[in-house]
Amino acid sequence: MGGITPPDQIETRLFINGEFVNASDGKTFELISSKDNTVLVHVQEASEEDTNRAVAAAKAAQPAWEELTVQERGAYFKKLAALIREHDREFAQLEALSMGLPVSGYFHAAAAAKIFDHYSEAGYTIQGTSSLATPGFVNLTFRQPYGVVAAIIPWNVPVLFFAKKLAPALITGNTVVLKSSEKAPLTSAKLAVLIKQAGFPPGVINVLSGHGHISGSILSYHTDVRALSFTGSTRTGRLIQEASSKSNLKAISLELGGKSPAIVFEDADLEAAVTSTAHGIQSNSGQVCMANSRIYVQDTIADRFIDLFKTKFSEIAKMGDPTSSETRHGPLVDKAQFDKVLEYIEMGKRDGNMILGPDSVSADKGYFIQPTIFTSTSEDSQIMKEEVFGPVVNINVFHSEKDVLAKANDTEYGLYASVFTKDISRAMRFAKGFQAGTVGINCSSPVTGADTPFGGYKGSGVGREGMPYHSLDFFLETKSVIIKVAG
Ligand code: NAD
Repeated sequence: MGGITPPDQIETRLFINGEFVNASDGKTFELISSKDNTVLVHVQEASEEDTNRAVAAAKAAQPAWEELTVQERGAYFKKLAALIREHDREFAQLEALSMGLPVSGYFHAAAAAKIFDHYSEAGYTIQGTSSLATPGFVNLTFRQPYGVVAAIIPWNVPVLFFAKKLAPALITGNTVVLKSSEKAPLTSAKLAVLIKQAGFPPGVINVLSGHGHISGSILSYHTDVRALSFTGSTRTGRLIQEASSKSNLKAISLELGGKSPAIVFEDADLEAAVTSTAHGIQSNSGQVCMANSRIYVQDTIADRFIDLFKTKFSEIAKMGDPTSSETRHGPLVDKAQFDKVLEYIEMGKRDGNMILGPDSVSADKGYFIQPTIFTSTSEDSQIMKEEVFGPVVNINVFHSEKDVLAKANDTEYGLYASVFTKDISRAMRFAKGFQAGTVGINCSSPVTGADTPFGGYKGSGVGREGMPYHSLDFFLETKSVIIKVAG
């Protein structure tokens, strides 16, 4: 049951109103394997009609779902979590095939199961307030679901985002339409299979595959969708915000891109800083929103740091077939990402000094790019400002604390920032001074707190997600109820 799915049995259909269906207009799109460029499967592409049908199904299912007790809703989550755990290796395999994430160290399904387990018990934490502060009145607030909500997710960590968005949306009594990424739709379709097995009532969860245009855009403009939680690029985030303002002002949560700095001082544990930052940029071949793509190292330790980093970065990145348990460094997700990263590498060569990286690369045998390091890159170079989303890091040297904080913050992004130092006062000055939604002290991305919110300053997003209450909060309206008490 938990084995590897043969290619002809991979689920590629849409999941609408509890049924698996083909696209209404018969359209499909090719999913290309990132490891060898072959066509993996043809996936059903949700049409406008399919997207509208999914929203209508969610709307019809919502009142009964909201009427269930929180234990009844939570019971479905527990069944789903158990099924996800059972199929862990299948999720790993599907992700490796479609987007190149190595099966070694795959943890997304296990983490998703934990999220469903957590929220299965979270129903009673949804509480309003009461106040007797106004004489002659009892004032209350109710927290209520929006009704139909949508989730649009990216390809780089699909199963985790599926759970992070759906679990809080559903436990609060909303019903959901989720659109997966066209670059990694298979694990969301697999989750739909398990959702059916877990017995969720039809229409409560609908899962669509397709591109931004048509299904993503239709969801963003849909007037029956009252809240939309999005994770993806800043460019698409802007379009979704615009769609909300041009349609029904649906509530939006935007988790967007990053260009995260890591600062290493001379008093830091050098080896630990190297290990942490090398992992931060190598994990998922650098295709991580919070990856520490800019490292600033103090002049007095720069040579030692860079030497050690170069060794560590090449060692941890054992490049190869992502379905092999030996591989630590898989290919990039697709040709578009591959070409984009190569363009940035060319910019890096122009504006900095490449000390590790490819001389020439070809996509003939998969979209592999080896770990790449630039030093001494000019601060105003495009590669220092824009998100590369690949295994490419810029290491620059700094001389003064004030100067380096200004450089770290000189970006339109603000998702994650880290500082390595043993000086607690300095660490606190940076924690306060970084313009970033998450700060790591003596640790770096992808380390986050299970019980702290996640989200971006500036162009990295709007709103916060996470446990214990930020995600629940997003999926709930607040109503004030004013009761006049006769004297
Ligand atoms: P993307 O913005 O291209 O796509 C994300 C999703 O949006 C996909 O499902 C896509 O089909 C959909 N989409 C595209 N155009 C749309 C439109 N006009 N309307 C509605 N939906 C549309 O991003 P991506 O390439 O899939 O993911 C990589 C990006 O996501 C990076 O920028 C990365 O930093 C970011 N990201 C952010 C976080 C975070 O938590 N902040 C986490 C992971 C990834």
